[in-house]
Amino acid sequence: MKGLLTEIRKCSVCKPFLPLGANPIISASPQSKIVLASQAPGKIAHRKSIAWDDPSGKRLREWLDVDEKTFYNPDNFAILPLGFCFPGKSKTGDLPPRPECAPLWHKKITDRFKNDPLYILIGNHSQTYYLRDKLTLTSRIQNFTEYLPHYFVLPHPSPVNHFWMNKNKWFETDVIPVLQNEIKKRLK
Ligand code: SF4
Repeated sequence: MKGLLTEIRKCSVCKPFLPLGANPIISASPQSKIVLASQAPGKIAHRKSIAWDDPSGKRLREWLDVDEKTFYNPDNFAILPLGFCFPGKSKTGDLPPRPECAPLWHKKITDRFKNDPLYILIGNHSQTYYLRDKLTLTSRIQNFTEYLPHYFVLPHPSPVNHFWMNKNKWFETDVIPVLQNEIKKRLK
């Protein structure tokens, strides 16, 4: 795994399309128990070279009920976005992850996991890539138990998603306790 991560961190396959250049952000270990598959790092993550060190990450850790030390230990959590580099912005938000990235790298990484980890699929991009269905994010999350024990589907924890959170209050009352229980089981 170490050699592969070194190779990925030197990757510049889609550099011509990346407004701030290539800076692959990824963390994984053969012992990873849980995989966080999200979209792509934002501008803050690109600048800091750290994923989830922002309000979205704070909320994600609250949902998972873990502290930063537990979260950033790759033997616990692999951080595996669908695109490892910041893809740039559109008028409405961040661009989608670069399409070259996941097909090029994900299987090489996931083949090295030894513990049959739980994949937490955060947001539509990772869910569409891994589940290969045409359902909406809301309908997937309403039926989240159907994807267990291999996958757990979540919305993106970004504060800009507050409209979805307010409209779907059942998410925090019905889904989060089950998520926290799954995380506890995997980390024990
Ligand atoms: S997004 Fe992925 S494929 Fe593209 S340069 Fe970064 S690491 Fe390489």
